[in-house]
Amino acid sequence: MNLSLVFTFLFGLVFGSFLNVCIYRLPREESIVFPPSHCTSCQNRLYPKDLIPLLSFFLLKGKCRYCGEIIHWRYPAVELLNGLGWVWVIASFGITTQGLAGVFLFSFALVVALIDLEHYLIPNSLVILLFLCGLIFHFILQDLSLTKRLLGMTVGFGLPFLLALFSRGGMGGGDIKLCTAMGFWLGFPAVFQALFIGALMGSVIGISLIIMKIKKRKDPIPFGPFLVLGFLIIFFFQEPLLSWYWTLF
Ligand SMILES: [Zn+2]
Repeated sequence: MNLSLVFTFLFGLVFGSFLNVCIYRLPREESIVFPPSHCTSCQNRLYPKDLIPLLSFFLLKGKCRYCGEIIHWRYPAVELLNGLGWVWVIASFGITTQGLAGVFLFSFALVVALIDLEHYLIPNSLVILLFLCGLIFHFILQDLSLTKRLLGMTVGFGLPFLLALFSRGGMGGGDIKLCTAMGFWLGFPAVFQALFIGALMGSVIGISLIIMKIKKRKDPIPFGPFLVLGFLIIFFFQEPLLSWYWTLF
């Protein structure tokens, strides 16, 4: 057993419970630092024994200690998923700048996807965070020229903007801003692949839901989860995907 991966998992769990706070509070425009964690039903303050990632949920049998309100299974699920995601990233990239960028992107994608699924919005603060971190990693990693990144940004803005114009609905303003920041991260031409994968998955699943009559034609479809998934796939698998693509010819 690799000790650094065990620690990565534990850090991932703890960070996951912070992500839960972000997922709940950001779309409600509440501060993510104040007030301290409390039950969203009875407002009782939660103490460390109630906040141990994963464990508290099972010890409390999924209910608030004070009012008995059911705690959504999303809370332990986000913690576990974030822990496992971080382990996978660090096992693949090591504790390197690339690995740090990877854990950030993984957690970021989780927060954006869950907020968009529930509220059909992508908070501006998250888009700004993505852009700022992209800028920092650009100067540290120096693996892409600034020109490529700015071109990526232009495509990341332009394509979804056109799609929003012609699809009337589908993509929203939050999606366009998110894609612009993702374009800066991925640069040109990788941004095309990420947008293609994201839009394709979103459309296929959206159309399937309409065919299965789970959603109506006019219902909005949150594109955020698919866009961030396309973004992660290209960020992590761009090279293996490309070499597989060329073996097809
Ligand atoms: Zn409560």
